[in-house]
Amino acid sequence: SDHALSYPLSPDAIDWAALYPTSPSTPEFADVGCGFGGLLIALAPLFPDTPMLGMEIRVQVSQYVQDRIAALRATAAANPQSAPPGAYQNVSIVRANSMKFMPNYFPKHSLSALFFLFPDPHFKARKHKARIISPTLLAEYAYILKPGGIVYTITDVRDLHEWMKAHLEAFPLFEPASEEDLRAEGKGPILDAVYSSTEEGKKVERNQGDKWLACFRRIEVARI
Ligand code: SAM
Repeated sequence: SDHALSYPLSPDAIDWAALYPTSPSTPEFADVGCGFGGLLIALAPLFPDTPMLGMEIRVQVSQYVQDRIAALRATAAANPQSAPPGAYQNVSIVRANSMKFMPNYFPKHSLSALFFLFPDPHFKARKHKARIISPTLLAEYAYILKPGGIVYTITDVRDLHEWMKAHLEAFPLFEPASEEDLRAEGKGPILDAVYSSTEEGKKVERNQGDKWLACFRRIEVARI
């Protein structure tokens, strides 16, 4: 339940310096339902100048990720051989229900990447409205993404994959981006992390499950 959560009125109301002490700014990558933080912790050293934010609704899990980031920062500062002194300053997490008020966190056209990795499937039809991809939420995602920004989705649940793909295809501000094209653009390291850096992705690997990837580009002008 999220009844105890309070929300910022706008991105301007957020203390970005508390999240990114060495260079406060709004994030460029967002990981929705980040779980234990594996994706962002893999990406942070690869894109040291890109601020990235995880959103996680569970109290203990978001606290765990916060502690994990603090420990990585402290290790980097104390032990320059292990990582550059400023390492992991670009990664942070908030406890939030990402189905509410995304635009209160991310300014218009501010994100270049938005991740939905192994989201909860909500199998039953009456639960589909709880899915993280829906026409209403896609309008918010289109608003916070830059034109050219990428939505990355991956799941081991084929029905959820078809659902996310169908909704993104039907939305006029997104066009499919093939894995091949994204790799040709230099986004291979991001895709590799999407496939296998998260705790859920590793679990699917251990169980030899399938992984269904679908990526979409936020286009400049709506298709009509
Ligand atoms: N992305 C991670 C991974 O790949 O390991 C976690 C996947 S886990 C199956 C789904 C996560 O989304 C859970 O940690 C859950 O608490 C979180 N979650 C579900 N609904 C959410 C919401 N509305 N806002 C934020 N996080 C949410």
